[in-house]
Amino acid sequence: MQKLKQIYEGKAKKLYETDDQDLLIQEFKDDATAFDATKRGTIVNKGVINNKLSETIFGLLEKKGIPTHFVKRLNDRDMLVKRVEIVPLEVTMRNIVAGGMAKLLGLEEGIILKRPVLEWHYKEDKLHDPLINDDHALALGIATEKELEAIRKYSVKINEVLTKFFDSKGLTLVDFKLEFGRYKGKIILADEISPDTCRLWDKTTKEKLDKDRFRRDLGNVEEAYQEVLRRVMA
Ligand code: 5GP
Repeated sequence: MQKLKQIYEGKAKKLYETDDQDLLIQEFKDDATAFDATKRGTIVNKGVINNKLSETIFGLLEKKGIPTHFVKRLNDRDMLVKRVEIVPLEVTMRNIVAGGMAKLLGLEEGIILKRPVLEWHYKEDKLHDPLINDDHALALGIATEKELEAIRKYSVKINEVLTKFFDSKGLTLVDFKLEFGRYKGKIILADEISPDTCRLWDKTTKEKLDKDRFRRDLGNVEEAYQEVLRRVMA
């Protein structure tokens, strides 16, 4: 499968058309950005690592009955995916207080939540992906009631599957972000699942092994991504 016209370039990925109109090639870059791209950098080999991790995780989720855009990994940086229309919602699932939730509610990082929290964020960089509720999403026509229901159901299930999976690898899944798309009238999981989009802490030491190392200048960023890959593949 060959890359034809580039149709999108985002912060961490590029998308190309292929000779099949239903399929795209998703290329993973090493570029890293944070705080609405006001902080920029490179994480050596991040693209290669995130491509492999996303392949493994999408494969696991498919086995557990979650439909995804993943078709196959083509090489180090490229993945063949189904062409979807992205629903402009970033779904955040949280198990432990960190990042945006700690800031929003004035909470200490690390508080274990009594139950997972699902947040909808309207996907709009200019507005810093604001937190919205179901009514906003419905009233603005961002998604239908049926779509929100499907996205919620899949997100809860993904959290259950991934929490267990990462736990078996000595990692705590603190929170993560998902994006969904419309494909042939159905909702499927899109984007990527990687240390760019998940907070992962070592289960014992609570050491951060994710993009927070880049966001917060904690050092050993590449090493953290490599360590997650090593554990996931073990
Ligand atoms: P927070 O809202 O606390 O900043 O992020 C919650 C979780 O979603 C974190 O795991 C974070 O990595 C992920 N997340 C939220 N928004 C984005 C985004 O725009 N890009 C990426 N890569 N991850 C995000």
